Amino acid sequence: MALYADLHRHLGGALHPRIIYKFLQRQDHKVLGYFPDYEGFYNWFTRPCRSLEEFVKIHTLVEELQSLEHLPYFCIRLCRGAYTFENLQYLELRYNPYFRTGHDLPSEKRIGQMNEIVEVITQNVRPAEYPITVKQILCLDRRLPENINEAILKVAVDNIGPVVGVDLAGPEIEPEKWEGWVALMAKARAAGLKTTSHLGETGIENVNPAFFNVLDRIGHGIHIPLLRPEWLKDLAKKQITLEVCPTSYRQTGVMENFSQLKTVFSRCKDAGVAIAVCTDNPGRNPSPCTLPGEYERLIDNDVIDFAELKQLQNEGFRSAFGFAGQLRS
Ligand SMILES: [Zn+2]
Repeated sequence: MALYADLHRHLGGALHPRIIYKFLQRQDHKVLGYFPDYEGFYNWFTRPCRSLEEFVKIHTLVEELQSLEHLPYFCIRLCRGAYTFENLQYLELRYNPYFRTGHDLPSEKRIGQMNEIVEVITQNVRPAEYPITVKQILCLDRRLPENINEAILKVAVDNIGPVVGVDLAGPEIEPEKWEGWVALMAKARAAGLKTTSHLGETGIENVNPAFFNVLDRIGHGIHIPLLRPEWLKDLAKKQITLEVCPTSYRQTGVMENFSQLKTVFSRCKDAGVAIAVCTDNPGRNPSPCTLPGEYERLIDNDVIDFAELKQLQNEGFRSAFGFAGQLRS
């Protein structure tokens, strides 16, 4: 049995829609007024969006459900599914701790609650009966003020061990603010964290080469090989891995089909830039969307050759931020 590592999966998009629907029923949640049956909810939840902004809006709903009190419910189900249906040996789960704090609380209190969020997740992502290793990446967000992003970074540093890295997430807005983000990522690295950032997902505007000096991986980055292939040499030299999430680009309206991914994979291969195939938000994709399914789709659409599969799978482990174990097979 092949085993897999997924390095890019959001807690808010990791859960099967059935699990979320059952949770809403248990809570008698008001959103059920719009979705009296599961089918309607499923179609809404997994539909392709026109833009990343539209996609992120639904994500926000799930983030609000994943409060301190309910995180154990979601974490255990997430590990169970990843282990049982996807053969994941290793998973890096990313989330913004601030968005899971009490929404009615003042900002200062919410900042104070973030550490508890990380602790609850740490306790609930190692169920004895599903022996998967889960490490955490905390997401900074382009929509949040500087003091909150600084506070998220501090919580990440305070929890090094279960937390292995930080990410920059949120819609790709305000590319002119790159300097501030680069400084924060440099600070994270100096404190012993690994770094990744959502860049070059919907376009090239927010990719500033200064990021390449402070990142270990890039979330997506697909527009670098597509639009600025001359930068690939630098990525290869700095050993930066791209986290490529095939189905996600269809769901966020970035790509209509997989054919553009052929260019992404072939240019990266030629330049010596590593790619880790990941899932991003598998719960938001039409079922079944699993990591093994993503590999199969790449072969099915002629993006990669079957012979390349094993090396790509290994890349998931090699580029991991916190994988210290032995590859089981
Ligand atoms: Zn993502």
